[in-house]
Amino acid sequence: MLNASPVPALEAPANCALCSRMVDLRVQCQAAHPDWWNAPVPAMGPATARIAIIGLAPGKQGANRTGQPFTGDASGDLLWAALGDLGMKDHVVILNAVKCLPPGNRPNPEEIRACRPFLKAALDALPNLEVVVALGAIAHQSAVKANGEKLPKRRFAHGAVHQLLNGRVLIDCYHPSRLNQNTGRVTGEMVAEVLSQAVRL
Ligand code: URA
Repeated sequence: MLNASPVPALEAPANCALCSRMVDLRVQCQAAHPDWWNAPVPAMGPATARIAIIGLAPGKQGANRTGQPFTGDASGDLLWAALGDLGMKDHVVILNAVKCLPPGNRPNPEEIRACRPFLKAALDALPNLEVVVALGAIAHQSAVKANGEKLPKRRFAHGAVHQLLNGRVLIDCYHPSRLNQNTGRVTGEMVAEVLSQAVRL
């Protein structure tokens, strides 16, 4: 398993109150499942990482339960299998564009914006970071905006490689959600291909 957050001081506090919908849902989950994590899910991985992988937000019974991004659900199963096959498990930082469980698994634009400083802080705190892999359009958009750049110049497309102004590279990948897996939009091979491209860059 990976190390704990490389940037603990810059993480959202356990009782973060920036988004009222998230707080309401957190309180409900805490009452229904007191043994679950039920708090903002911190970034995970070594501070020395060259590659960071950004997801959308914790899944209810996945990261929101375990406290670790991409664990305990179908998205995580696919991602970790690909990372394991490529020998990358212990070398990447994994984090989410949104730290808390969003209602209906869909954060709204205000919530994405409210959480962006935590994403930016985490990425800025990685001295060796060269490649950012965005899983899905929301992760892509938040990564671009966290870098102070404009979206029209940086469109999300699976496999697209964007040279960012800070010298880092952003690579897009479809999100490995259960829905995307079930519809065949994304497969383990597709994710592995993007990840191995990230290694080669
Ligand atoms: N789990 C996460 O932590 N993030 C996602 O985007 C999906 C599942």
